[in-house]
Amino acid sequence: MAVRKNTAAAGSTAEMIRRGAEKMKKKAGKGLALCLCLGLLSAGEITAYADGPAGPASDGAAVSAGAAREDLAEGPGKDLAAEAGEQTETGNQEAGSEASQQAGTEGQPAETANQESSTESQASEEKADDGRIMSGGRLIDPAKPMIALTYDDGPYAPVGNRIMDCMERYNGRATFFVVGNRVNSYQDEMRRMHSSGHEAGNHSYSHKYLQKLGAADIRKEIETGNQAIAAVTGVSPALVRLPGGGSNATVLANIHQPVILWNVDTRDWATRNADQTTAAVLGKVKDGDIVLMHELYQSTADATERLVPALSEQGFQLVTVSELIRFRGGAAPGTLYYKFPPK
Ligand SMILES: [Zn+2]
Repeated sequence: MAVRKNTAAAGSTAEMIRRGAEKMKKKAGKGLALCLCLGLLSAGEITAYADGPAGPASDGAAVSAGAAREDLAEGPGKDLAAEAGEQTETGNQEAGSEASQQAGTEGQPAETANQESSTESQASEEKADDGRIMSGGRLIDPAKPMIALTYDDGPYAPVGNRIMDCMERYNGRATFFVVGNRVNSYQDEMRRMHSSGHEAGNHSYSHKYLQKLGAADIRKEIETGNQAIAAVTGVSPALVRLPGGGSNATVLANIHQPVILWNVDTRDWATRNADQTTAAVLGKVKDGDIVLMHELYQSTADATERLVPALSEQGFQLVTVSELIRFRGGAAPGTLYYKFPPK
């Protein structure tokens, strides 16, 4: 089977990544200062999580520690693998196993018939008279506010399809960071994501904490995750999100895609409450923000069905992370990003 990597969308993302890499070099000093601030903020948040009742650490809980450490690890060659061991052990394995029990219900046979049609919406590069640009099957105004709602740990069709249904009613598109070993169980959902202009990112093959692995195992988790997605959608994912958000210098050195974290954590995995998930976002998001949710919970779909109309009403365009990158100046491989604010 031919795996197409060079669609227009992937091409433009790659171009943005190259440009981003050049900018990053120039702005390295400034970026470090910013990251340090974020790291400190995050470090403050982790205390609250750590003191909370026992439960699975989400990507959100774990990232705070990871972000803080990674930012301090910017020095050449410093490997924080040992420190990373402090990080919460449990991850969202509970959530993962719960969902995996339900996995496989879609039960679709493998087939790749829609590879041709699936790239069409992303291949459009049309520009409307008013400056809006065709992307993912609808027009985006690069001058107006945009945010990315992201959903980890799927695919999981009973929730993912609700999210996509809702997004599409409002011309929004979601980003799903999926776990590679779940992809075959939800092939129809994966193909829908791709053909409808949503984004499938790589959340590793088996949700292992990469900061605890050596270089070869890190590469294997990422590469097999990329391949699992490409085998179903026909396109290798542009972006990576780290399980638990945990990283160190070895992790970043062995990932050749931009690494996308988040700056708005809903903690939906902990509350499983649509009111609280909604409240974590409304009135708090700003232009360029990346919101973390999880694809495993109906309460998250409930929250999405409130968030999408409300955010649209407030003037936010709901875009994929690759669209944020495209319209906000690019991203470099092996680099952590939390948000893409306007320049
Ligand atoms: Zn995760």
